[in-house]
Amino acid sequence: MIPLQFCFPSLFKHSRRKGRTVAQAITDDRWVLDLAHGNNSNLVSEVLDLHRLIQRRQLNFQAEDQDQIRWNLEGSGQYSSRSAYALQFLGSTTGMFQAMIWAIWAPAKLKMFAWLLHQNRLWCNDRLQRRGWPNSYFCQLCLRNLETSAHLFWSCPFTKTVWTSLSSWQHCQGLSKACLPNECSSLEKVEAMVSATGPAHAKGIKSLIMLVLWKIWQERNNRVFRKKEATVQAVINDIRRELCLWQQGGFKSILSPFGDPP
Ligand SMILES: [Zn+2]
Repeated sequence: MIPLQFCFPSLFKHSRRKGRTVAQAITDDRWVLDLAHGNNSNLVSEVLDLHRLIQRRQLNFQAEDQDQIRWNLEGSGQYSSRSAYALQFLGSTTGMFQAMIWAIWAPAKLKMFAWLLHQNRLWCNDRLQRRGWPNSYFCQLCLRNLETSAHLFWSCPFTKTVWTSLSSWQHCQGLSKACLPNECSSLEKVEAMVSATGPAHAKGIKSLIMLVLWKIWQERNNRVFRKKEATVQAVINDIRRELCLWQQGGFKSILSPFGDPP
């Protein structure tokens, strides 16, 4: 049951006696007298609603009745840690990207990286700037725009060329969806990339998306911290090498032929 102060916020704010119990408030309609001051013309609709609610419930408080604590998330009224845990996720949504981060085949460090990206917790220059911490402001891949994660992974000309080049690989055409208009969120782009890929290669493309994002982040870090620059082709070659290592390491979802055209 939702407390009355949340159901009728204007009444609660205007009331002179906010500490009354419900029993005290409805006795002799004291709650109405508590509102009789100042300009209360804007309270009419809430007053009527609360009045109707009290009538409907036919509340009959007995002084000797003791209050009871009831856990409304369980039919039994008893607390359970299971329902308390579920409560934390009430209203949250699970997008494909969020779900796939933990389900895909990829090294754990990539999953952690992808999770931070999904939460927009990577230390891109825009976040550093907001904290007043040292930063180079511009995206180090193009030196044109403020570096945000949206720019770095999806809008940067350098990054777009990587996505576009990879989309020429066999079964990787879906990667071209990474270059959808900037209005599309990263989630929408990832979902579009996976949707545009055949079911037989869905697992492989998800891992490849993670790998590309990871390599872009590595290239960014190389430029920021090591003053080393690689070309688009060098980044793609690095992705290719890593894919080979993954295959040797048991990653079977990159079905052959998957990757470079013959
Ligand atoms: Zn850029």
